Amino acid sequence: MALGAGLLVALALVIGMLLARASAQLQPDDAAEIERINALLPQTQCGQCGYPGCRPYAEALLLGTAEIDQCPPGGASTVRALAALLDKRNVARMPGDPAAGIAIIDEPLCIGCTRCVEVCPVDAIIGAAQFTHTVIAADCTGCELCIPVCPVDCIRMHINIAGT
Ligand code: SF4
Ligand code: SF4
Ligand code: SF4
Repeated sequence: MALGAGLLVALALVIGMLLARASAQLQPDDAAEIERINALLPQTQCGQCGYPGCRPYAEALLLGTAEIDQCPPGGASTVRALAALLDKRNVARMPGDPAAGIAIIDEPLCIGCTRCVEVCPVDAIIGAAQFTHTVIAADCTGCELCIPVCPVDCIRMHINIAGT
C-alpha cells in the first residue's frame, strides 16, 4: 500500500516536472499565440488529443510537441484551421478520411433518446426524439463521443479500411 502511494507520488512529481519544463520553454509573448490556437479548438475538454484540455494542447502545438491532427472532435475543419494558422502544409491523416472510423447506429435497437445528438460536436447525427437516429457518414469525424452516452449501446465504430 505504502509502495503504491510512493509510486503515485513519484509519478505525479515526474509529470509535474515535465509540465513545468514545457511551460518554461514558453515565452511571455507566446500567450497571445496560444489564445489564437486555443480559439480554433472545440473546447469540449475531452482529452482525446492526449492533453488534459484544449489549452494545454494549444501550448503543445506552439511548442511543436503535438501534431495538428490530434483533436477528433474538431474534425477536418479544425485541422485545416490549425494548418493555416501554424503554416503546416503536410498533414498525414485528416479526421474523416476513409482510414478513420465512423460511427454507425444499429437502427432497430435505437430508442430515439437523442443523447448522441447532444454530444456530437459536428452535428453528424440526425433523428427526432423517440425515432430512429442515423449518422451522416460524410460528416462523422470518428471522435467516438457518441459511443458512451447511448443507453442501449447501439452505436459502433466502423473502420473503413478499403475506403468504400
Ligand atoms: S481533443 Fe480537441 S476538444 Fe478534446 S481536449 Fe483536445 S483539443 Fe480540446
Ligand atoms: S463519432 Fe459520433 S459524436 Fe463523433 S462525429 Fe461521429 S457521430 Fe458525431
Ligand atoms: S444515444 Fe443511442 S438510443 Fe439514443 S438516439 Fe442515439 S443511437 Fe439512439
